[in-house]
Amino acid sequence: MSTILFPSPVFGPVHSRRLGRSLGVNLLPGDGKICSFDCVYCECGLNDERRPASRMPSRSEVADELERTLKRMRGEGREIDAITYAGNGEPTSHPEFLAVVRDTRALRDKYFPQAKVCLLTNATHLDRAEVREAIELIDRPCLKLDAADRDYIERVNRPNARYDLDEVMGWMKSFHGRCIIQTMFIKGTFEGKSVDNTTDQYVLPWADAVASIAPEGVDIYTLARDTPRDGMQHVPLEELERIAGVLRSRGVHDVHCYP
Ligand code: SF4
Repeated sequence: MSTILFPSPVFGPVHSRRLGRSLGVNLLPGDGKICSFDCVYCECGLNDERRPASRMPSRSEVADELERTLKRMRGEGREIDAITYAGNGEPTSHPEFLAVVRDTRALRDKYFPQAKVCLLTNATHLDRAEVREAIELIDRPCLKLDAADRDYIERVNRPNARYDLDEVMGWMKSFHGRCIIQTMFIKGTFEGKSVDNTTDQYVLPWADAVASIAPEGVDIYTLARDTPRDGMQHVPLEELERIAGVLRSRGVHDVHCYP
């Protein structure tokens, strides 16, 4: 199946199901993917098949291109709801992430002060103080937690370095609710192994874990684009709503489903 790569360092705006008119900031190379996870469902493809030849954009390249784009859009009378770090991999792996976030906030304040600065992250770099500091500056940090089950994470998210679920949960809790949890629900198989996280075996511990983080909100979504391999299926809305109900019964009410 065909997967996609995003231009770097700025792309869109795209219409995001979650964020509205969102200008994307891709801190990874435009010709490949760099991620500390290698999720079997990744819309950018599998890490080994998407090795980039070019480097990450520098802080000044990001700021220059972002300013050019925001200035042009404002001149054209266009509006945006969000500026979002997303794209070909994990944004927080950029070595100057904190400085980039500071630049982005200043540019946002200058050109589109009503827009929210958003982040889609897999949360693997929360052990770094400067990443946590950057997240404190972001209006809508969305942290990935697909399951509260080590085997599932190893099988589906496939971290390429040590991933300690208890430690990651601890960092998530350290934001005292100022974060969004984002979870991908899928069915089917990858290389002969089940990737289904919609059964009670996964949903119940996940719901307990999310409730213990007490986030501002939870985004539950499912496959909307092509996956690197066949065999995985999206989850119908009724089932996502059932899962959202499990979470609400644990006191987490701001839950949104994106079928
Ligand atoms: S964390 Fe996101 S970018 Fe990284 S492999 Fe998973 S889906 Fe792809």
